[in-house]
Amino acid sequence: PHRFDSIPLAPPDAILGLTEAFAADTRSEKMNLSVGVYKDASGVTPILKCVKEAEKQLIESEKTKGYLPINGQPDYRSQVQQLVFGDRVESDRIAMVQAPGGTGALRVAGEFLARQCSPTRVFLPSPTWANHNAIMQSAGAPVESYTYLADDRRSLNFEGMLSDLRDKTRPGDAVLLHACCHNPTGVDPTAEQWQEIARVISSQGLIPVLDFAYQGFGDGLEADAVGLHTVLDKCAEAIVCSSYSKNFGLYSERVGAIGLVASNPAAASASLSQLKVLVRSNYSNPPRHGAAIVATILADQELTRLWKTELDEMRIRITQLREKFVEGMAKQAGAPDFSFLLKQKGMFSYSGLTAMQADELRTKYGVYVVGSGRINVAGMDEDRMDWLCGAVAGVLS
Ligand code: PMP
Repeated sequence: PHRFDSIPLAPPDAILGLTEAFAADTRSEKMNLSVGVYKDASGVTPILKCVKEAEKQLIESEKTKGYLPINGQPDYRSQVQQLVFGDRVESDRIAMVQAPGGTGALRVAGEFLARQCSPTRVFLPSPTWANHNAIMQSAGAPVESYTYLADDRRSLNFEGMLSDLRDKTRPGDAVLLHACCHNPTGVDPTAEQWQEIARVISSQGLIPVLDFAYQGFGDGLEADAVGLHTVLDKCAEAIVCSSYSKNFGLYSERVGAIGLVASNPAAASASLSQLKVLVRSNYSNPPRHGAAIVATILADQELTRLWKTELDEMRIRITQLREKFVEGMAKQAGAPDFSFLLKQKGMFSYSGLTAMQADELRTKYGVYVVGSGRINVAGMDEDRMDWLCGAVAGVLS
């Protein structure tokens, strides 16, 4: 009577499954555009110099491996609070909780919505990062979707989005928004559109939940916060789930935060106490190392300057790859115009490739693309751009 013998096999994660297949592929020309991490020109996900420097300092200065408080390391919390909110919101209206990555932040935020704000439903953009659905469902929050991408699969259906937010929601529902660099499409609202979105969220009495996983990967640290700041200006309450996996290159260190904005200090304190209850029964308290790295960098002017330079380098490289790819495709006879990629933000874009074309790209050329046609621009090998464009043109013709 073995209890585990009848456990069914779960389907593999679609994207991580491709990573495994890529690793097993023996073709030397293979190229991986499916993963969700930044790669530099030599194809590696680098450790930033500012991170290495902070780690050296931490080795010397760390005195204990004792537990952090349930809501995380205090100096980390105040540093990232400044990064996310600046001076826009009074500090005593913010409940700040360190979380294990953006995923951990979203999970705790989802549980908070499910337990404390019921019968809140969480509206997700269509499409969205696949894990949003899974996280919110595991957290016990009912999930709905709102229109986001237009039928051309390369631009925002802004009218559709607004009318869904107006017509499908009830007051008290939550709306998840990608603060910048929408994953998987790369399609972001303009500053003017954010104004309108914030107005609708506020007038409908919705709770904005901002997933802020790519600050600095779109147009720069400040510019990427414009949507978030617009929402904060118009809404008294909000939840911001931030991640420092991408912009500090700290993927495996699991560094994120929940910043809950309440309308008054007492509500912020009560919300913080409930967030701590959720953390306690979930993972008890967060890991120290990654947060200590971020706090060390942000507390030091020199290291902060170095970080901003390195972040700019990543952002500029992605922009240049977009340009080179669009130029390369323009040289392919009969290939469609890819200049829409230049308007999109962040590492990802919908290429317009169908699942069948993505399959063919993999089997025939060893170029790995997610079935939705999402490409990670940072995975492109700039030295073999013409080859890549030839392969893409090959499956499109
Ligand atoms: N939100 C979005 C939109 C993401 O793309 C990701 C990472 N792929 C996350 C959140 C979670 O990031 P983390 O690795 O910090 O959990």
